[in-house]
Amino acid sequence: MRLPYLLLDIDGVLVPFPDADGSTPATHARHDVLPTGRSADNPVTVWLDHAHGPMLMGVISTGLVTPVWCTSWRQDATTLIGPLLGLPPLPHVDLPRPQITTSHPNGYLWKRDHVDAWLSDAPAVWIDDDFTSLDHAWAVERTARGAATLLIQPDPCAGLQAEHLAEAEAWAGRLFTVLTDAPAVPGGTEAA
Ligand SMILES: [Mg+2]
Repeated sequence: MRLPYLLLDIDGVLVPFPDADGSTPATHARHDVLPTGRSADNPVTVWLDHAHGPMLMGVISTGLVTPVWCTSWRQDATTLIGPLLGLPPLPHVDLPRPQITTSHPNGYLWKRDHVDAWLSDAPAVWIDDDFTSLDHAWAVERTARGAATLLIQPDPCAGLQAEHLAEAEAWAGRLFTVLTDAPAVPGGTEAA
């Protein structure tokens, strides 16, 4: 069977939004990183919960999903963020850089059309803080046509929680059971 992808966002998921006063969760350690194309004297500060690395590795090591970064950090997710969490190099969806002023220029998440094309008909669990009702409808429609799709949407001010990964793992486990229990030849048409 084909493993579902685990698509993983960073901002609002691994790096929760700061409070109105600029404070960030005590669980998250600050790091200065230098995204591609940025000058060395202009780093970006991120805050990461180092418990997220082992939590993510726990899901990855089940072998039930294929993890892929899906973030505007693009390849910097692999080279800058992942290593800070102790994650191995993971592939990323090569998202474009649209000139947009909202993350929902058409009423749904700007990444979605690219993800839809990238996935083709592959199953996927997608963790992102920024879905709209149209994205949830898209997931229902994909699932209905046989491409099982689960959207998990953390609160961007809180970010990724253990229950989100538990939900992803449970979903992938159920999908694995369903697909591996299916008869290889529907209707049993082998000759006796
Ligand atoms: Mg986000």
